[in-house]
Amino acid sequence: VVSVQGGRIVEVGRRGPPDARDLGNVAILPGLVNAHTHLEFSGLAAPLGAPGMGMVDWIDRVIQYRREGSGFGVQGSGVLRGAGGAGRELAPHAPLAPRPSPPAAILAAGLRESALAGVTTLGEIAQPGWPPDVFQAASVRCVVFQELIAPAAVRVAGQIEAARRHVEAARPAARWIAGLSPHAPYTVHARLLSAAVALSAERKVPLAMHLAEWREELELLRTGGGPLRRFLERIGAWDPTAFSVGTRPGDYLASLAGAERVLVVHGNYLAQDEIALVGRQAERMAVVYCPRTHAYFRHDQYPLEKLLAAGARVCLGTDSRASSPDLSLLAEMRHVARHHPQLPKAQILRMGTLSGAEALGLAAETGSLEPGKAADLFVLSLPARNAADPHELLFAE
Ligand SMILES: [Zn+2]
Repeated sequence: VVSVQGGRIVEVGRRGPPDARDLGNVAILPGLVNAHTHLEFSGLAAPLGAPGMGMVDWIDRVIQYRREGSGFGVQGSGVLRGAGGAGRELAPHAPLAPRPSPPAAILAAGLRESALAGVTTLGEIAQPGWPPDVFQAASVRCVVFQELIAPAAVRVAGQIEAARRHVEAARPAARWIAGLSPHAPYTVHARLLSAAVALSAERKVPLAMHLAEWREELELLRTGGGPLRRFLERIGAWDPTAFSVGTRPGDYLASLAGAERVLVVHGNYLAQDEIALVGRQAERMAVVYCPRTHAYFRHDQYPLEKLLAAGARVCLGTDSRASSPDLSLLAEMRHVARHHPQLPKAQILRMGTLSGAEALGLAAETGSLEPGKAADLFVLSLPARNAADPHELLFAE
């Protein structure tokens, strides 16, 4: 019996008042936490491209979609949103062009879909110009990580300024919370990364960064070459001062460790010493595993067991509909249960709830059914049978 008053949990116990409402054969769960998504793609009916495609091909599809299909227009200025005709806007020494606002209806649809899937908290990567009203009106609580992209030194100052404005726009009473997302090693100049880390520590806001996501990314950091280098040159986003050749994800983890709180997004190709580093930093650093997106790209086996054995905090995300069929975090947990059958089911549930809340810095507010926390409840019908471990029923199809 979960007793709720004024939107807060006041008691969790085995007995309730006579007028307690019986919901039948259900599980009452804490609201799910989707720690990583990009709601701008919520209008997609299916992932872009084809399963197993490479990084550069997929990013080309993203660019094409943004130019033709999303309503975002061709004026975008991020490295991921302008090839071909828009490529000139990405020249390293060109100023950042103003970006169009994401269509509010698409973001609202993604928030609605999330709520219907039992998600009550989201880690959202937002483009500059994102509409605060949409997030303010949503039933889902969001940490809005504004994306920072500046592969070229000349753009760094403008992105730092945008980051400061974003952090300052957050208000304690708002439904959304400010975070910052230096996008990835290949789109973030080293000076922008250190400024974002400093701002995170100064203003106590979380960071989220895509890291060790692709083999092409590791090759670029290691050698300065490869398909990703050629891609960045093609779209005019290559700056040889952006990072030192011979860098690896562990160097980024070391820099990120200075932030208030960090979500390492994906971490698909972290090496054992890097996994150990994430484990040692678990109080402030979490890894976001996006299971169905990982499967879509047919990456190497995800190092989930290694991360957990190292004491790392692992939470879950859908990533976006550009690489995942929908925004259901329950479907992500079921995917993990199927593909990592030896993991205790209770641990999988924790990854989709409390670990995500902890990663986002919201564990005092949500993530578990405890008195004092917000009444973020997800009520799920169960199959009409018994199981030795009741968690099994949650993950049955
Ligand atoms: Zn992402």
